[in-house]
Amino acid sequence: MIPTQTEIKRAQELRQLLQQASYAYYVLDAPIMEDAVYDQLYRELQQLEAEYPELVTADSPTQRVGEKPATHFTSVRHNIPLYSLENAFNLEELQAWEQRWRRQVPPTDSAEYVTELKIDGSALALTYQNGILVRGATRGDGEMGEDITQNVRTIRSIPLRLNFDGLENLEKIEVRGEAFLPLEVFQNLNERRQKAGEQLFANPRNAAAGTLRQLDSRIVAQRRLDFFAYTLHIPGMDDASIANTQWEALELLQKLGFRVNCEHRLCQSLAEVAEYYKYWDTERLNLPYMTDGVVVKLNSYKLQEQLGFTQKFPRWAVALKYPAEEAPTRVENIAVNVGRTGALTPLAEMRPVELAGTTVSRATLHNSDRIAQLDIRIGDTVIVRKAGEIIPEVVRVLKELRPSDTQPFVMPSHCPVCGQPVVRETGEAVTRCVNASCAAILKGSIEHWVSRDALDIKGVGEKLVHQLVDKGLVHAVADLYTLTKEQLCELERMGQKSAEKLIQAIAQSKNQPWSRVLYGLGIRHVGSVNAQLLTDKYRTVEQLATAKQSDIEGIYGIGAEIAQAVYQWFRIDANQKLIARLKATGLKLENTQVQSAVSSSNQKLAGKTFVITGTLPTLNREQAKELIQTAGGKVTDSVSKKTDYLVVGKDAGSKLAKAESLGITQLTEAQLLEILGKTE
Ligand code: NAD
Repeated sequence: MIPTQTEIKRAQELRQLLQQASYAYYVLDAPIMEDAVYDQLYRELQQLEAEYPELVTADSPTQRVGEKPATHFTSVRHNIPLYSLENAFNLEELQAWEQRWRRQVPPTDSAEYVTELKIDGSALALTYQNGILVRGATRGDGEMGEDITQNVRTIRSIPLRLNFDGLENLEKIEVRGEAFLPLEVFQNLNERRQKAGEQLFANPRNAAAGTLRQLDSRIVAQRRLDFFAYTLHIPGMDDASIANTQWEALELLQKLGFRVNCEHRLCQSLAEVAEYYKYWDTERLNLPYMTDGVVVKLNSYKLQEQLGFTQKFPRWAVALKYPAEEAPTRVENIAVNVGRTGALTPLAEMRPVELAGTTVSRATLHNSDRIAQLDIRIGDTVIVRKAGEIIPEVVRVLKELRPSDTQPFVMPSHCPVCGQPVVRETGEAVTRCVNASCAAILKGSIEHWVSRDALDIKGVGEKLVHQLVDKGLVHAVADLYTLTKEQLCELERMGQKSAEKLIQAIAQSKNQPWSRVLYGLGIRHVGSVNAQLLTDKYRTVEQLATAKQSDIEGIYGIGAEIAQAVYQWFRIDANQKLIARLKATGLKLENTQVQSAVSSSNQKLAGKTFVITGTLPTLNREQAKELIQTAGGKVTDSVSKKTDYLVVGKDAGSKLAKAESLGITQLTEAQLLEILGKTE
């Protein structure tokens, strides 16, 4: 196969960008992109080169380890090259690695692995002559490194003289390991640099690498670097003459006086390796130093020797990295979605990319301001982020990779669904379709009406709603209540039984309380909490429809914006007619006797899940929790899609950010008390 012009160009672009990044990273210690982004682009180039070997150039970043060292220090040749590690990004890739090495050696049933944490620092090669440290060198490009002995001598966990009892015959030994900055030291260092107006280090790894290459050893000494040893070599001798396995080597390193990371494990199978990897996925966040994966090594030196090295990696080890929360991908299209409020939301449709364990192919671009700020265009390579359950978003555009023929994105002047002109009010970021009979708005409002917190009509999903609207069976939510079995049976994949069930579910929704009906109407700013506050005060729809705006605003917890939205909604003719029709169907548009009894009983929050964050003004955590629980609510510790409300106090942290990104309703302590009827 011959590569297309686009592929040739892409390989060139990638090579150039990776070279720039690699130089910034290894030589300047000031990376220009995140590691995960680098890894992904690197992979893309690797895949292109694997498919078209003619694209491989001698200077391709895939052909070399590290960078040529900078010139401050004397260059030194490593006795044994310092290799890089092959990467695996998930357990399938780990399995593939095992299958590969097994094919290259005579069949062996069991193979032990040593798993170690992959410390995110900088590799060092230490040479000891008759037990005395004579040289410390950086990895450099793997063949040639820099002699930084003076600096290495300042690291307290590196012995200057080995504990050599019984090993005196070892004239020369080489120890490799990772120099790193503990997180606390890194943070303090960056704080000090910020105060001094100096450039901050991007991460502990770059801070460690930068520190090791300081010309003034006194500064290095102040920075408190630390070191974990992980490899032992005896130049000129068979390593197995003093240790037969990696495990024994680690023990020996400890005996010689090195610090060895204590979290290494001996695993008898890949399943045990997987367990170790999963355990550290979350646990690593509690460590006082940074790790970005685990290193899996075959324990037996005999097997290691049989397998040997590729040009870049040992075949007997692999770095199993943790999934990235950020990754680069290409924008293939920018679509515009119309929601139930008529808001036009631009969406980036992207080449699918693995992110935090899931495949992502769409990300919201919010509105035209955000698009302008990012200057995102079709064809751009972008960085997408997805942390935990947060909806993926585009963080930035890699402008260096922009094709020459792109155009800035322009928001459509007409609704992409109904074709009517759209409106962007002054001071608003959102562009809206204002055509009340726009199919997109109608579909969105029906989906909202049937949703869990509104009328909770089971069995009416997005696909069904689309059919109902497209076939002209439903023009407003009230039409749901006059649907017949015959009409439903004509829809795709709808049998007699399902149709009957659906009609029953729709009919049952007439028993839902007035607060849910109000919420279901989808009036702007009226979420379920506000709906509850409004229906507690206005016990019938007539009372609410005729209330003065200032009276509505008088409700504790209801702001001017909400009051105005509610007041204006009831002034629109079509909405008045809708209310009349809904009333005629038998829906509850008032608080009934029974309902009032329920709401005044102590189960007001039944089925609702709460998270509390920050310091509340009067209640402590336990008191707030108890109040919620006695009203039937559930209190959990972490925010997820299942959370209904976040009770927010002072100095709220990451929970608030997460809740905001998931669009979870927030409550102040006062609002919570109001809902519970605990205010005077
Ligand atoms: P690597 O960091 O993926 O793995 C090899 C290194 O792991 C070793 O050299 C050693 O320093 C370290 N290591 C930590 N614990 C270890 C242990 N227990 N046993 C053995 N080794 C251990 O490979 P690399 O070649 O050093 O660097 C490539 C990586 O550097 C890329 O994956 C990328 O993330 C990053 N990089 C980033 C940029 C950027 O612009 N952000 C540029 C170039 C490289």
